Amino acid sequence: MNDLKRYTVHITGIVQGVGMRPHIYKAANQLGLCGWVSNQGATVVIKIAGGNKSIREFLTALLENPPVGAKISNIKIESECYKAYNGFSIINSSTDNQLQGFIPPDMGICDECIKEIRDKMNRRYMYPFTNCTSCGPRYSIIKTLPYDRDNTSMIAFEMCPACMSEYESPDNRRFHAQTNCCADCGPKLSLLDSNGKPIDSIHPVTSARQLLYEGRLIGIKGIGGYHLACNAFDEKAIDLLRKRKRRPDRPLAIMAVNLESARLICKITGKEEEILTSRQRPIVLLEKKNPQLLPNNIAPGINRLGVMLPYTSLHHLLFHEELQYLIMSSGNISGMSICYKDEEAFEKLKDIVDFFLVHNREILTPIDDSVVRVVDEKEMVSRSGRGYSPSTLQIDVSCEIMAMGAEQKSALCLLHKGYAHSTQYMGNLDEMNAYEEYLKNMKRMKVLLGAEPQIIAHDLHTGYLSTQWAIKQSDGRIPIQHHHAHMVACIAEHDLKKDAIGIIYDGTGMGTDGAVWGGEILIGSKGRFLRVGHWKYVTLQGGDSAIKEPWRSAASYLYAMGINSEELLNSVSSLKVKALQNAIRHNVNCFKSSSIGRLFDCVSALVMKRMHITYDAQAAIELESVIEPDVTDFYPYSIKEEEEKLEVGYKEILSGVLRDLKDGMTASYISAKFHNTVCEATIDCVCKIRSKCGIDDIVLGGGVFENAYLLKKMKRGLKERGFYTYHNMNIPTNDGGIAFGQAAAAAQMAKEGNYVSGSSGKDCNH
Ligand SMILES: [Zn+2]
Ligand SMILES: [Zn+2]
Ligand SMILES: [Zn+2]
Repeated sequence: MNDLKRYTVHITGIVQGVGMRPHIYKAANQLGLCGWVSNQGATVVIKIAGGNKSIREFLTALLENPPVGAKISNIKIESECYKAYNGFSIINSSTDNQLQGFIPPDMGICDECIKEIRDKMNRRYMYPFTNCTSCGPRYSIIKTLPYDRDNTSMIAFEMCPACMSEYESPDNRRFHAQTNCCADCGPKLSLLDSNGKPIDSIHPVTSARQLLYEGRLIGIKGIGGYHLACNAFDEKAIDLLRKRKRRPDRPLAIMAVNLESARLICKITGKEEEILTSRQRPIVLLEKKNPQLLPNNIAPGINRLGVMLPYTSLHHLLFHEELQYLIMSSGNISGMSICYKDEEAFEKLKDIVDFFLVHNREILTPIDDSVVRVVDEKEMVSRSGRGYSPSTLQIDVSCEIMAMGAEQKSALCLLHKGYAHSTQYMGNLDEMNAYEEYLKNMKRMKVLLGAEPQIIAHDLHTGYLSTQWAIKQSDGRIPIQHHHAHMVACIAEHDLKKDAIGIIYDGTGMGTDGAVWGGEILIGSKGRFLRVGHWKYVTLQGGDSAIKEPWRSAASYLYAMGINSEELLNSVSSLKVKALQNAIRHNVNCFKSSSIGRLFDCVSALVMKRMHITYDAQAAIELESVIEPDVTDFYPYSIKEEEEKLEVGYKEILSGVLRDLKDGMTASYISAKFHNTVCEATIDCVCKIRSKCGIDDIVLGGGVFENAYLLKKMKRGLKERGFYTYHNMNIPTNDGGIAFGQAAAAAQMAKEGNYVSGSSGKDCNH
């Protein structure tokens, strides 16, 4: 038998908490191989010995068919002298934390487990915390790596003999399932009133279901925090939720009992179905079906719904024949991050809900539902949370960097041992407790990965709490311009090696000249950029209120055009408009802006009469929602060349909008024409730029590209003119992706020795 071999195999990636060791154990046994498998730090190490052909088969199967939820990023195979082992075994985890760590995300319940909770004969019948090696909570309950029960909040529950025997039997699908539990030994549900007092109930979940059906509001503790739930058929209950939560307009997420029910309320493409039913179970933004089955107050003024499918046993048990849709809104009060600690939830949500449905397993990391959309049958992550975070992308540098992100849609990115680990969305840092959670998460990421970043990457905006924190540290730091970070987020995600042209359309970002940028055309790479074009500056008045009150953008643009806006904005008091005009005249609280986001606000105020917003980007979202897709017209526009920079004007465009308004054209027509104009003018610009620099790779980035109409139209137009386009997919194109962009940019700059240390605040990337 001279073909006997022995190998040591190291696999890294998302390989813990996904049933990797039992999977390997089974495969090795089936092929008659011997050796062992172990978690070491966050790497899975295998010693495998036996016939060479069988080992090959074993490795091929491992790579081609890993367990669901696993993501092998790297595999290292070393040949060794043959040695026989006594069978194949799983050996206990070592605590070697020096190795690369990957943190497994939470996974939605698997089909096998769903079968069990529905089977009257099964011992887990109706047990709301049923899970197995390939499903259940992970990141939200992990204290430290490696992923073992003792390092999670499941440490509080001792396995009963029946569960222990499953855990110990190699043939059981719960073999070495760290979160294994049942009704006898695992977490338990209780139903409480709004004051947190227990309510007698034999089956809390059945009682909760009845209460939901009757129109009551329930705070439900889930995987990463609390949801505020009510019957999605009940218009009054939804109104009450909106009133109590102080959320007048913001779209509310729906949980549909299954795919068939989701299809009754939305159009669902093949890709959308794949994502809805994936184990990551995000909220998918889908096109509403007409006529609407559910009340209009779920997502007023917009043409899509955020829909997800149940992702825990508990969720499945909440539905019945007459309760097919639930509102599952984030459990927070307006302006705060998601509640996940029981005491905090009872205190903060007691005035919103009528009841609480809670359990006694501690959530260690708050994490919201992820939000994704599908554009041209490709997935785009809009909010990275449960199931998606922490996300891991390879960036080949040796230094360790903590990237701070921006202010809105905050997230952190920790670059460690050649991988960028991006955290979940943590809300806006200016909200009351988001900043606290953000700092806690920073510590947690460092502990989980055993990282000690030497460099901090941050935004240029000194008003951001993330920047202020960075400036206070004595370590080396690298300021990254906001739109360069957006551009690099895309360059790094697609691993582009050559210079690209970046079309970065955004709300707000500090420019290197002190103005607010957001309509930018850049040329550059990870390490540097040149601003080759932008939308013409306008003087905006009102600081933060300019964002929350789109009429201010409209009045500012019109003032710059010498047009009296009082009549056009007649739902705003003329005293307010006059005060704004006066303030611009005397330069009080004014700033220069090239932000496309504000131009969209201006047009929405004029066309949709959207003067105030109550959630982020509401004005632009409503403007996009009314587009008449068959319109191909566009407004005249101008492009000026000044000091080697192109400048796109807004006067001709807005004059066109005003003319159409006067002629009584519909909002649908004007909106389409305006969107088309932004595309035409932009593509015209990049054609001019290409004729000088010869670059035909285009990177599209910034929050404005969450606008699917604009993104699709821009991609199509650029393709017709021979460009190659790239946009973010796994990384959010909005400010949720800034930290990743900062990390990748700073890594490149550090590699080139191009960074400042201490707190000089000097920019190094323009
Ligand atoms: Zn399962
Ligand atoms: Zn048990
Ligand atoms: Zn941005």
